[in-house]
Amino acid sequence: MKNYVIGLDLGGTNIRAAAVTRGGEILHRVKIPTEVANGRERVIANILKVIDKIKKELKGLKLSAVGMGIPGIIFFNKGIVAQSPNFPDWIDFNLRERLSKNLALPFYIDNDANLAAAGEGWLGAGKKFNSFCMLTLGTGVGGGIVLNKNIWRGEYGMAGELGHITIYPDGHPCPCGNKGCLEQYASATGIVRMAMEGKEKFGVWSSEFGEKDITADMVYQLAKKGNKDALEIFQKMGRILGIGIADLINILNIELFVLGGGVANAWDYFIPSTIDEVRKRAYRITGEGVKVVKAELGDDAGIFGAVYMAMNELKSSGVVELRS
Ligand SMILES: [Zn+2]
Repeated sequence: MKNYVIGLDLGGTNIRAAAVTRGGEILHRVKIPTEVANGRERVIANILKVIDKIKKELKGLKLSAVGMGIPGIIFFNKGIVAQSPNFPDWIDFNLRERLSKNLALPFYIDNDANLAAAGEGWLGAGKKFNSFCMLTLGTGVGGGIVLNKNIWRGEYGMAGELGHITIYPDGHPCPCGNKGCLEQYASATGIVRMAMEGKEKFGVWSSEFGEKDITADMVYQLAKKGNKDALEIFQKMGRILGIGIADLINILNIELFVLGGGVANAWDYFIPSTIDEVRKRAYRITGEGVKVVKAELGDDAGIFGAVYMAMNELKSSGVVELRS
């Protein structure tokens, strides 16, 4: 019987899932609202609903395991959500134990940015590399470190928080408790804040957009039109990203950095400053061969990563022999 694994991406707005074979073929996709406002039990019921829908659609095939990515701090080995920005009441919540009451299946959870990196390593921009770092430049900055084809999770499962590298000792406060983190400048939130800090200039910009609240996309559209202030924001963002990447190069001596997330769309406006900083700050020998590339799998990276992670866990636990 043909086997498959379900990969889930548990976002604050939607639960996205796909049934995927060992070869990376998507057999079926499901997307439903997460319904965070209706409480934890509703979210859990929705996760189970997604799995059920897929199982019904793929009758005759065997579901081997389920992998899921969640933003926040995840204790991978225990299947515990320590804390998540999207689910404020999930504190030290043993999601695996809760779901195993309803699922007679191996079930694994991990940080969503770790899984995006795993997905890019399996089928995307990192597939030809043994080791690389991925930075997801979205509302925040997620990070994942892949070393010798494995996600580096660290002692407690918290490794790879690349968005919280300190750039400015007395910089903007970060929800993590630190100040001046990379995330405060190289994310959509950071871009909006930097634009708001130049509010007088923004008075001029806002005439182009009416009364709408400023968004990172608006700053991007202005940069495209050659607006000097918008271009400066992306240059600053690019520099800061380059400082973070140069540190990682000096620490890890790996040669690939994959950049994903919505902010990476502004590539042409920030990447020259990023490369410039890397050249200036990383050791010449380690920095010279470094490649900084765009992610290839878009929103599917996390789903593929969840599948890859679940397949690896199955293999190492010897639970099920996977056939494509
Ligand atoms: Zn931080």
